[in-house]
Amino acid sequence: MKRVVIVITDGMRRDLVVEEYTPFLAAFRRRAEQFVMHRSVFPSATRVASASVATGCYPARHELQGNSLALLERGVLVRYDTGDPDFLQHKRRITGSSLGVPTLTERVKDHGGAITLSNASPGAAYAHDPDGYGFLYNRGGSFGPGRIPVPDADQLRSTPDLAGDRMMTRRFITETLGARRPALAVLWLHEPDHMQHAVPLGSPEHIAALRQADEHAGWVIDAVDRLRETGDDVLLVTGSDHGHQTVVGVVDVEATLIEAGLKDGPTSGDVLAVSNGTAALVYVHPDRSERVPRLREFLVRCDWAGRIVPADELHDLGQAPRHGLAFGVSMRADDGDNKYGVPGSSLAAKPSEGKPDRFGCGQHGGLGRYEQSPFLMIEGTGFEAGGTRFEPTSIVDIAPTVLHHLGLPAAGLDGRSLQHITVPGS
Ligand SMILES: [Zn+2]
Repeated sequence: MKRVVIVITDGMRRDLVVEEYTPFLAAFRRRAEQFVMHRSVFPSATRVASASVATGCYPARHELQGNSLALLERGVLVRYDTGDPDFLQHKRRITGSSLGVPTLTERVKDHGGAITLSNASPGAAYAHDPDGYGFLYNRGGSFGPGRIPVPDADQLRSTPDLAGDRMMTRRFITETLGARRPALAVLWLHEPDHMQHAVPLGSPEHIAALRQADEHAGWVIDAVDRLRETGDDVLLVTGSDHGHQTVVGVVDVEATLIEAGLKDGPTSGDVLAVSNGTAALVYVHPDRSERVPRLREFLVRCDWAGRIVPADELHDLGQAPRHGLAFGVSMRADDGDNKYGVPGSSLAAKPSEGKPDRFGCGQHGGLGRYEQSPFLMIEGTGFEAGGTRFEPTSIVDIAPTVLHHLGLPAAGLDGRSLQHITVPGS
């Protein structure tokens, strides 16, 4: 039986997957194939990335534009935090679809099915299966086919930390891999991302979290070995969704727009600058499109803005100018070291609600070198043990690779399957 197991350690940087911090993954690298030019999407944020892993498409097509975003609803720009458990259900009611393209879970529903356990935010977890084609377990509520809640005793009651990841990993191994054995099994760990937001990269607390996340991945690698001993042809995908940069400053983008006369006031619906960590999505109401040229002139003069991508170039970033999205802004970033010698620094955009990012701690969302350096290592049929691939790859390539292994069609995806082309008889 052909199966695929995916383990994501959220936010783990490729340059930190080393023997000293992650011995289990470092050992796995020697028997898997690694992808050293692997990239995230824009924004490099967990909900957006979850949808891209799940669909094999960029945000332009899966439509989850950001961890926070705006929807044009009945002529009004409305700001949303997409971590909300109900966001994708709300989006379906407003726009007619949750995600714009099918997920892996939908594609494998009649071919062995999918089970996903995610300890990320509910909004990120539900991006794997917003329409209820498989089993999805998350601390915000767990569902079976038809989005029918699983029995109370089967709900996933994990805490959003290492302890929750540990409990979830144990359950994944015994129940999902050991007993239920779907065609596609996905484990999405919340660490080290959660810890990286709270402490400096390279600090003792961070290194301890890396080691534990690595150990959890190691348990799954061992479990897959046992599965293979029963005769299953298992493709094992280990990776992360994005990396992190160190926050060296926080900018209130909307306040600067108000000060410059480009936004009417804090609650006005003419222009919204929605924070996505080290990126911002700038929306302009269609009735105020005359503001766009002035906004562009203003943004290019701002020393806090790194790369500014206008509407007609959003496609290059995998985005589309839907719902008034007028600019994607990656905040200024450089390769400077933090106090622990970990490179990669960025400015962060202050969120309109909730706490601003912690100065000196990790964040992501933009196009900085290290937030755009997740890791990817794949072991199984079509991959070279101990091999290294240097061509650019993206997290959207995971879904077509999964479908290729399972022998299912993958037409119409943005990504491509990563298996080596094998010539029969060679
Ligand atoms: Zn993430």
